Amino acid sequence: MASSKTAQLTDFTVDILGRYMCNGLDEALHSTDKNTQRPDRSPQSDARPFNAIIIGGGSFGGILAQHLLYADKTNSYRILVLEAGRHSLPEHFQNLPLNGQPGSEVWGLAWRTNVAGGFPGLAYTVGGRSLFFGGWSPRLLDEEITQWPAQVVTALKQQYFDEAAKQIGTDASNDFMHGKLHIALRQLLADGIKNHKVRHAIPLAQLPLHLSNAGPNPLEFLKLEAPLAVQGTPPLPGYFPVNKFSAAPLLMEAARIAQVRSGGDDVKKRLMIVPDVHVTRLVTGQRNGATVVTQVLLKQFGIEQSVPVPEDGVVIVALGTIESSRLALISFPNLPNTNLIGQNFIAHLRSNVTIRIPRSALPPGLPADSESSALFVKGKFEHGPNDFGYFHLQITASGLDKPSTDSESQLFKKIPEVDLLDALRQANDDQVVITIRGIGQMTSRNPGSKVTLSGELDEFGMPRAFVEISLTNRDNNLWNTMDEAADDVAKRTSLRSVRPASRSGQTDLRPSTDRGTIDQAAFCEAPRRPGHNPSRSWNAPDGDGSQ
Ligand SMILES: Cc1cc2nc3c(=O)[nH]c(=O)nc-3n(C[C@H](O)[C@H](O)[C@H](O)COP(=O)(O)OP(=O)(O)OC[C@H]3O[C@@H](n4cnc5c(N)ncnc54)[C@H](O)[C@@H]3O)c2cc1C
Repeated sequence: MASSKTAQLTDFTVDILGRYMCNGLDEALHSTDKNTQRPDRSPQSDARPFNAIIIGGGSFGGILAQHLLYADKTNSYRILVLEAGRHSLPEHFQNLPLNGQPGSEVWGLAWRTNVAGGFPGLAYTVGGRSLFFGGWSPRLLDEEITQWPAQVVTALKQQYFDEAAKQIGTDASNDFMHGKLHIALRQLLADGIKNHKVRHAIPLAQLPLHLSNAGPNPLEFLKLEAPLAVQGTPPLPGYFPVNKFSAAPLLMEAARIAQVRSGGDDVKKRLMIVPDVHVTRLVTGQRNGATVVTQVLLKQFGIEQSVPVPEDGVVIVALGTIESSRLALISFPNLPNTNLIGQNFIAHLRSNVTIRIPRSALPPGLPADSESSALFVKGKFEHGPNDFGYFHLQITASGLDKPSTDSESQLFKKIPEVDLLDALRQANDDQVVITIRGIGQMTSRNPGSKVTLSGELDEFGMPRAFVEISLTNRDNNLWNTMDEAADDVAKRTSLRSVRPASRSGQTDLRPSTDRGTIDQAAFCEAPRRPGHNPSRSWNAPDGDGSQ
């Protein structure tokens, strides 16, 4: 179907953002065809294929596309993003005055699982789950990545950790979270950890500080600052801060830069984002004795089409952990190490504790107006000699004048509504609600946790993924440990008696813990990152992880 040349009218909007950011599949394929003409009927024998085909324009795929475009100093690389969803939100939903998360418009569940309660699935939209994620982005400790391929660790430490922290805003402290409530809670927590009152917390002296604006002799309690992907102050004079980070604005800017540089000539456009195309399979062939991807098969409007991969091209699979595994299982059934695809699957162990404490329980001298805080504690558990499991606690707190359990009631609001701000300034916070979310790392290389193909076909006629997760004793031990630490944090921050708010009628802390089976939103991608050790990674031994 031919794409509209101008922004379409919907029932309610003129789709300027969609048309300015995206291209139709027809436009993308036409731009690669040497044997056809430009709209002004001049020949386009200079047309070239896309060198990089990114499958999935979500968090990772979106940011990668932007980086590839900017990093190509030769101005010759052509990049194509194939995304199953459409353009929906221009930035993180919390940056928009939507008063809550949008409904189910973009969410879809492509797989089946043995996990009770299932999963929310994927956000099928340009920007993917980055438009909805919580923003907690702690840097991994050196000791957590000793098993990772050396090359990956070096690249992360020498470049990508710092680059990412700067881009998303976690390298700066207090640019967005500050105030007396925050300072008071941080001090209580720092004292608790120092006096060994928070079991399993890693002492602050043993943790690195990853803030670039902390001054020459940074105070240790700055290590409790929440590593949130929120930028509240401008990165440079003259810039606006991005607020809560998502991939969508980056991708939009990159697409616009590509458009402007092309002078409106699609043949010269170096980045195209094609939404509403569902990739079903990668076709392989033999080149110079190696198995390579030669075509990307996809479906749009129920019709199968293909995008050719040139000899020097790369295909990057960025569909999230489960769907990337599914695509690889469907596409590469006969590689020497196909049996490793989908293995070593891990998720987060997760618990939530919410407490509501009277304002009078906190140190005196706090201002009367409503305030918020966000803090972070890193912990570990020794399973045995030199064998540790890691977790962290995400702590959010809000002062409230009405009983509620929403510890984020005043966090992540971008739009300055003057009437509301005045009301907040005058609110008398009788209560402070604190939520402590424990996030623990499951044991890796558990043969009981994996992604395989189920017998069921999806609406595109392809086998769905089946996700199995089985907990080990190690997982349960880490989970108990994390809950103990969360209980201790609750006691330290409330100073005295605690009234659990998340379950009424309970008097001790333990029953207030809401232990989910596993984190149903956030899968840890990293330990499954394609590496260079064939016994541990699902890449072809001679592959580079990209084709
Ligand atoms: C509510 C929530 C809170 C979270 N909080 C945090 C947090 O605080 N910190 C943190 O680190 N992580 C958090 N996460 C997890 C984090 O958002 C994800 O790990 C991350 O966004 C995954 O990025 P991705 O690029 O792998 O996948 P996605 O962003 O999901 O991108 C995958 C893309 O692939 C597209 N796609 C899927 N199938 C196809 C197909 N067949 N063809 C073409 N395109 C396809 C999808 O439409 C999507 O756009 C949270 C997630 C959720 C849902």
